[in-house]
Amino acid sequence: MTHVKAYAAQSPTSGLTPSTIERREPGAHDVEIAIEFCGLCHSDVHSIRSEWGTTKYPLVPGHEIVGIVSRVGDSVEGFTVGQRVGVGCMVDSCRECDSCLEGFEQYCEVGMVGTYGAPDKRNGSVITQGGYSQAIVVDENYVLHIPEGMDPAAAAPLLCAGVTTYSPLRYLDVQDGDSVGVIGLGGLGHMGVKIAKALGAKVTVFTTSPAKVDAALALGADNVVISTDSDSMAGAKHTLNAILDTVAAVHDLNPYLRTLARDGALIQLGLPSEEMPAVEPGLLIRKRLAYGGSLIGGIAETQEMLDFCAEHGVVCDIEMVSASELDKAYDRMVAGDVKYRFVLDASTL
Ligand code: NAP
Ligand code: ZN
Ligand code: ZN
Repeated sequence: MTHVKAYAAQSPTSGLTPSTIERREPGAHDVEIAIEFCGLCHSDVHSIRSEWGTTKYPLVPGHEIVGIVSRVGDSVEGFTVGQRVGVGCMVDSCRECDSCLEGFEQYCEVGMVGTYGAPDKRNGSVITQGGYSQAIVVDENYVLHIPEGMDPAAAAPLLCAGVTTYSPLRYLDVQDGDSVGVIGLGGLGHMGVKIAKALGAKVTVFTTSPAKVDAALALGADNVVISTDSDSMAGAKHTLNAILDTVAAVHDLNPYLRTLARDGALIQLGLPSEEMPAVEPGLLIRKRLAYGGSLIGGIAETQEMLDFCAEHGVVCDIEMVSASELDKAYDRMVAGDVKYRFVLDASTL
């Protein structure tokens, strides 16, 4: 057992404070990682504030982890000490169900083991603790290789924001020339723009923030729609083949469905904590639209995404924060005041 420094929430209102957590000794198949950077995802905010109502405390969030391998178990084959690696939103799954066997571990029928806040398979009385910490020990099957030459801090958010947008774009088979909409220009949204562009799509950003128009265009968006402006929304009517919805707050989907062309699909990625207004069936029926959802991505798909991003020069736009700035960063994230992802410098823990 090793003790490492971390930042943990003690209750929905405690914020994040310094703490010490235990990490297991690496088992035969484990990789121990000295964490360098960890991205701040809006899911971390939902979780520590128990906005989804399921949080167990104390909780160390963080599932966009990049670091250096410090020790490996005797049977580890894929990793060696000194390599730069990543860990995303899950650290285990049953490995036997159809979803696991097909490489969709995130949809494990027994339930994936989340990187934080999940019962630890090795010790059911303990919950997993995430990446706002100095080190983590993870089974090698759930560890990713960070491609050579990729900026490690800017790569960290690819482990959640990157794969969460990559996976549905690939599932929908977005091709060169397709028109893709991205709702919300935050951590997920800005990755959706970059990855859709790298796939050759024409990208429309829907934002509630007029101040983000220039930034969206600078990220590569071909078109920016202010979603609160009905004329601007009307201009996008029936133009899009696919939409990624990355909004973390309650909003009405129907105006966005009206921007889809025949056979278009709107994929829900953001998970607000309260009920959303209902989707109008007539909108779906009249244009043969699909309304679906998507959860992160599988392990092999996450590696594929990292390699795709390396090939296309895609990383996240980040603002580095120290451990003592985490609570302030959360407030700024909720206020939409980040371009576009905060990343914790783990050396400040
Ligand atoms: P984020 O950085 O805070 O971005 C969310 C964006 O939503 C904001 O930047 C804002 O963009 C927009 N927005 C906020 N309030 C809005 C409102 N009332 N109406 C319309 N738009 C609004 O969050 P994130 O880290 O990208 O995460 C987004 C959501 O995805 C969260 O709910 C998170 O839990 C979820 N998530 C899901 C998965 C998955 O596997 N499905 C994975 C990771 C995260 P504008 O200023 O441009 O409007
Ligand atoms: Zn996340
Ligand atoms: Zn499974």
